[in-house]
Amino acid sequence: MNENIFTTVCPGCSIACGMYVREKDDGTFNIDWRKDAVVNAGKLCRFGVRLPANLKAAVSKVDGNEVELSDAVTALGNAIGDGAAFVSVGNTTCEEHLALMKLAESKGAVVNTGMGAFSAISAECHSTMGVGVPLDAIESAKKIVLFIDPYEQYPLLVRRILAGKKNGATVTAVGWKAVSLADDNKTIDPANYESELALDSDSVIIAEINPSTDPERVMVLLNLAKASGAAIMFMKPFVNAVGCDLASKKTEQKSLDQIIAEINDGSIKTLVCLDSDLIEIMPDETAVREALGKLDNLIVITSRASAIADVANIVVATEPFYKKAGTVVNAEGRAVVGSGEGTDGIDAIGVMLGQPADLFAELNSAVLATLGIDAVDERVIPVYEKPEYGVMDANPTAEEVETALVYAGGPFFWNGIVDDNDFVEMNLDMLTANSLLKGIPAKIVSDKGEVVIKYKVSDVAPGVVLSNMKLPMTTGMVTSVTVSR
Ligand code: SF4
Repeated sequence: MNENIFTTVCPGCSIACGMYVREKDDGTFNIDWRKDAVVNAGKLCRFGVRLPANLKAAVSKVDGNEVELSDAVTALGNAIGDGAAFVSVGNTTCEEHLALMKLAESKGAVVNTGMGAFSAISAECHSTMGVGVPLDAIESAKKIVLFIDPYEQYPLLVRRILAGKKNGATVTAVGWKAVSLADDNKTIDPANYESELALDSDSVIIAEINPSTDPERVMVLLNLAKASGAAIMFMKPFVNAVGCDLASKKTEQKSLDQIIAEINDGSIKTLVCLDSDLIEIMPDETAVREALGKLDNLIVITSRASAIADVANIVVATEPFYKKAGTVVNAEGRAVVGSGEGTDGIDAIGVMLGQPADLFAELNSAVLATLGIDAVDERVIPVYEKPEYGVMDANPTAEEVETALVYAGGPFFWNGIVDDNDFVEMNLDMLTANSLLKGIPAKIVSDKGEVVIKYKVSDVAPGVVLSNMKLPMTTGMVTSVTVSR
């Protein structure tokens, strides 16, 4: 059997680890280690290694029936009118995202990346929120503060943090679950971050922005970085979230919650999602499914099969991510291009733009101009201006619930894959307080329903039930629950 070998990046998170994909004649593929990849030196986490099982090709459909791509594109052209809303969270190339921006613009709309924190926080902060610091800077920091769990959320950061420790850094983790590599695991009131963490200009703060992130928490962390002079890096769950944010930065956008609210109140009747599965991304899956059911037209342009494609009126199936031509910008702002030459998505959108000649070349030039570079060289991170910003008045929402079911996030979570983690985690005190017995699953109840699920004892914060997979009775990233056996 013949093989086509693609140089590409893992689509699992914004680290964008380099890899090879070996595609066989029958369309199945294996991955291979790309040892000269600057970002990850060939190493991959479990998600990257299991990519062949995690990525399933999409199929073009109209009203549930399989059709040729060209027929789906025709249906797409007929269905999109003025008033459509557009979403692209950053699971595709900058060029494809820009093509969608052109289409949206032609309909008097914008493409929403769904990252509500960007809409809620002033533009002077956007470069700092968008582009992080070089991963090498983690290795040379004196102090590293984690507001994420690198093992679960961004696994290839672990080796960088360990290298930092080897070079003398101390590591403090502030989160729901103790991080074993940290010298210190703390629960700190955001009002005391500055005094308790004692950071300076040799420190690096690592946090996350995802579509459900409370903007006030981002503001607190931006204030902390400003006051201490520490470098700050916001990881993102989507491979090209940084590139798509850079492309969309001058547009007034909506959060995903706003989009769902506008579908529910009838002001959005047509929704176009580019490689953005709101059913997988948003924590309250039931509420999202209900809202999507109210649309006149749900149009999905996607490179992989996922839950939203099953309920869409029109599915335009593009080539898999590793086959796409175009640019990806990772969390540190590094631009990378793979060897893929596919432009199915751009061509499909191009049909609605009157099929301009050399559309890919035009979009690619625009991407390079945005990045301020003449060509992509993955060894050199483009220079980004990060303007000074003022201190913000921030009041993060206090999670005032006695027992909270909390989503941990991570590549499997954001891609709607259950993997092997069909259990929740809680500490020993929770077991005792709720009379749980070894070997007997726990019953977790919220206002929306209940699940019976296996559990594992971990060093999780008091009152927290941590989950790596979506459970049907949740209302957000944090849900008030009771636990019993
Ligand atoms: S760390 Fe992220 S980009 Fe790297 S292999 Fe894992 S999921 Fe993929």
